[in-house]
Amino acid sequence: MQPSSLSTWDREGDHLLVLQPFMDSIIVGGEGCFLIDADGHRILDLAAGQFCSILGHNHPAFSARLRDQAAKLVHLGDQYVSPEVLHAAARLAAIAPGDLTKVVLLSTGSEANECAMRMAKAVTGRTGMLGFSRGYYGISLATHNLSSISDHPGKHDFQPAPLNQFKLLTPTCNRCPIQKQYPSCNIACLDASLDLISSQLENIAAVIVEPILSAGGMVVPPKDYLQKLYAETRRLGILLIVDEAQTGLGRCGEWFDIQNYGVQPDILVLSKTVGNGYPAAAVIVSERIARALEARSFTHLSSHQNDPLAAAAVSAVIDIVEETGLVEQSRALGEYFMGELRALQEKHSMIADVRGRGLMIGIELSPPADDRGDLALKAAMLCERKGLHITFSYFEPVLRIIPPLVISKAEIDLAISIIDQALSTLETSNVALADIIPQNSRSGDFVKRMIKPSAAALLRKMWSTSPHQWVNKLKSMRDQG
Ligand code: PMP
Repeated sequence: MQPSSLSTWDREGDHLLVLQPFMDSIIVGGEGCFLIDADGHRILDLAAGQFCSILGHNHPAFSARLRDQAAKLVHLGDQYVSPEVLHAAARLAAIAPGDLTKVVLLSTGSEANECAMRMAKAVTGRTGMLGFSRGYYGISLATHNLSSISDHPGKHDFQPAPLNQFKLLTPTCNRCPIQKQYPSCNIACLDASLDLISSQLENIAAVIVEPILSAGGMVVPPKDYLQKLYAETRRLGILLIVDEAQTGLGRCGEWFDIQNYGVQPDILVLSKTVGNGYPAAAVIVSERIARALEARSFTHLSSHQNDPLAAAAVSAVIDIVEETGLVEQSRALGEYFMGELRALQEKHSMIADVRGRGLMIGIELSPPADDRGDLALKAAMLCERKGLHITFSYFEPVLRIIPPLVISKAEIDLAISIIDQALSTLETSNVALADIIPQNSRSGDFVKRMIKPSAAALLRKMWSTSPHQWVNKLKSMRDQG
């Protein structure tokens, strides 16, 4: 008999616009770190939804707080405020580092980053923006153009791109972009980046950074990199915006990962984790920035700004993280998880590196000689088949472990054993991707198109990479017969 998930896809899947592929499982519920599908399978979710659900799925106290607020008041016009909004702003101000004390509540990370960037332009009177060459900041024109994964020629849906956006080389010390060694490099990649854009520096309003770059390869910048960047921002009159979409609210063993670096942002942006999956975001600014914004009559008006239901979600997340000690738990269990992964590294030469902080962990895989660029996808799909949901970064094959902070040791052990089995399969047999990708009626073709590039995509890729790389690739294909 066909699984219920697949027959539901067949019966009712026609009208969903497929903008990215879906797994076969249709999810009907959630419980802690597990998703439950229409066939009754339990899937351990190492991505906390879209890196949001730090309290896990269906946390009873969180759901009750949302239900209570939904029964009272969901939404308000921008001209009114409710007590829940004042309370959430005060709670955020109390946990945010230093004098970050003024808050606006928004809905998504893209919206909040875009708002922070506009604030920086308004305050400094400059229009330039700096991000990491491997950063990810959102899906709006301005945030996406600053993000690394927008760098595709031919992506005309993101054009015309905003002007005056520049990139810093990402401090990927295990593959230094300027072939130096950390720490003797003295953070030369930052000097090189600033040198390249020296003529633009006096027009840069802000630099926006993720404390750990997630989509960019689970890159953990060295502490002294961010300290030096901070010092440069002070020297150059540039504001520091820190985007803690994924790292905020305890994930990295502090309320905010930027606290692990000992630098003070001018603007802190929260999204994803701050609503535990309910769409909430927050931009928190220092007293100085708040005064400057008010003096310039800076305005921001959007339909769901400072909504009571989002505010109730934010306060509930902070209360539950605090009451159940999740900041400390993420530090302790992150160490346990990384310890177990390092033990697995002894067994699997395919694991090149294990890195991270708290429950924000990357496993870099070393591709075999005949790699077709799909190693991480294969590993993730093999895990999925065994009931483990795991995602991966762009660039090198890096599996991302970003689970709910409520994960237990037993659940970590289960994850380790499934990753172990998946890597053994990859090491010992010839896994055909076509056999393990989603088969559902709507996503199957989408995935096939993704993994079998069209002639046009191949041409675009040839255009954007060097002829030398292509000659080598064709030679290696010929040698393999
Ligand atoms: N910043 C970071 C670091 C993110 O990871 C994301 C989402 N992946 C965003 C911003 C954008 O958030 P949203 O998808 O909620 O707009």
